[in-house]
Amino acid sequence: MGWKWITDRRHEGRWAVRGAMAGLTVPMFFIGAGLWPSAIDTPLALGFDLTVGLLPLATTASGYRLGLLRRRVAAARRGRAQNAALLSDKAFIDPLTGLANREALERAVNAILAGDTAVGRNDGLILLDLDRFGHVNETIGRAAGDQILLILAQRLRQALGAHASLFRPGGNEFVVLVPGTPSRGKLEDIARIVGGVLREPFELSGGQLWIGGSLGVTFVKADDTQLSDILSRADLALRRSKEMVGNSVTFHEEGLSTQTQSLRAAGRDIQQALDEDAFFLEYQPVIGVESGRIRAMEALVRWRDAEHGALKPDDFLVQAERTGAMPALGRWILKTACREAAGWPEDVGVSVNVSKHEIGAESFVDFVALCLREAGLQPSRLTIEVTDAVFSPDPKRIATVFSALRRMGVRVALDDFGVGFSAVCNLGLFPIDQIKIDRSFTDAMMRSRRDGELLDLILKTVASFKIPAIIEGVETECQLEVVRALGASEVQGYLISPPVPAGEVGALLAAFKAPGACASAA
Ligand code: C2E
Ligand code: CA
Ligand code: CA
Repeated sequence: MGWKWITDRRHEGRWAVRGAMAGLTVPMFFIGAGLWPSAIDTPLALGFDLTVGLLPLATTASGYRLGLLRRRVAAARRGRAQNAALLSDKAFIDPLTGLANREALERAVNAILAGDTAVGRNDGLILLDLDRFGHVNETIGRAAGDQILLILAQRLRQALGAHASLFRPGGNEFVVLVPGTPSRGKLEDIARIVGGVLREPFELSGGQLWIGGSLGVTFVKADDTQLSDILSRADLALRRSKEMVGNSVTFHEEGLSTQTQSLRAAGRDIQQALDEDAFFLEYQPVIGVESGRIRAMEALVRWRDAEHGALKPDDFLVQAERTGAMPALGRWILKTACREAAGWPEDVGVSVNVSKHEIGAESFVDFVALCLREAGLQPSRLTIEVTDAVFSPDPKRIATVFSALRRMGVRVALDDFGVGFSAVCNLGLFPIDQIKIDRSFTDAMMRSRRDGELLDLILKTVASFKIPAIIEGVETECQLEVVRALGASEVQGYLISPPVPAGEVGALLAAFKAPGACASAA
């Protein structure tokens, strides 16, 4: 068979409006069918032109604002005209995609910065970076990588229409410049349009693939003097997006760099926190869709931090990996999860998330055996969850590790499927017992038919490899009904139960009752 890819990253970003440390991050794939690329040009266009059209009805006090608005509209039009002119000059065109290149972006931004200060300098800039694109290039070849960039450029151009200018300053980065004084909401809408474009599979000559990206958003400010001022803010926001698992959009906010620095400091403190016993595990049940019974509990690590309260993994795992503390933390997690699970009923398993850095360690399989032995836990009760990130750079070694674990009786699950860099053919190449479909699909499937169809397609693909699928992030009874109808074998999510501390697992298991059906679906 040809290859078929689902790409993106993990441990680098998860959606959601997050706490104070996160900067402002919004879900990227939030919109429904009404905001899909083909349908969205119209609302955006109307939004822009109606404002101008209705203004003459306002009182005379609005005269100044009307004048200002007209000048802004004229400035935006001029910007677009300049852009069109630039595109007729080869020096300003990216030869691969035909989009405006970095020089063109520089000129466009310089024109904004040199513009009428009364008009304001609040253009929006969205920086899009494709995730793990280097890896895509390495694995499927530069020609296929180029094909992706070309298709993406065409789709973005079509989706954004005349409402924003699109640039490819280089590599796997795209910039969307939104003229005028767009509201934050408008930039969010445009970011979602970009997200919608990324959700479309790419049909390449070698097969089909999905690719994810991260977005950083900022506004042009009055004290900006050059493009790099703006890009560095967008880049800081983008880095923050990259740190979440799943596709994310982050708006730049003052203090983002200090947050990043303080998180880095947190990385250095991890070893100390381990010494001080500051980590603990929560467990979230996974239930059989048909039986409604709890099959396993997934271990999720938390950090009890005196200053910040209980920190979630997104707040420290990236730093743990970057600072080299992950193997030590991972060993503590595996050991603790095995020990705690040994006290549960025998028909309840435990799933442990294992990072690329841990599973890649020479001693990993032996360490798993040691944890099982010390805890007195049956190997068949342990599932190791990995993401497709583990397949690079040495897929052969990982296949050997998976086989060794399975020989021992331990199961292997592929986590966050659908947003991770994962060739679907990996499902045939690697011994895998379970696929966990990322929760972004569960959320999106109720909002748009297309996302529902995509989830259906992924489930069918997984089923063709005869691998059972777990759907993550089930929050409502209606979602449960839909995933049941789509043929998922197991589900996990807040509807069933949020993660609970180890001390509450016994009570949860004893009192558990599976949720009922959605009223409208029943
Ligand atoms: P994951 O493996 O996909 O874990 C599921 C995450 O989704 C958990 O977030 C869980 O609290 C959250 N979640 C579960 N159900 C729902 C739902 O219905 N709605 C929503 N919105 N969220 C739900 P958490 O605990 O913040 O963990 C985030 C990620 O951090 C995990 O994603 C996993 O990749 C990583 N992680 C967590 N614990 C560990 C660990 O012990 N070791 C390693 N290496 N990674 C871990
Ligand atoms: Ca997991
Ligand atoms: Ca997951």
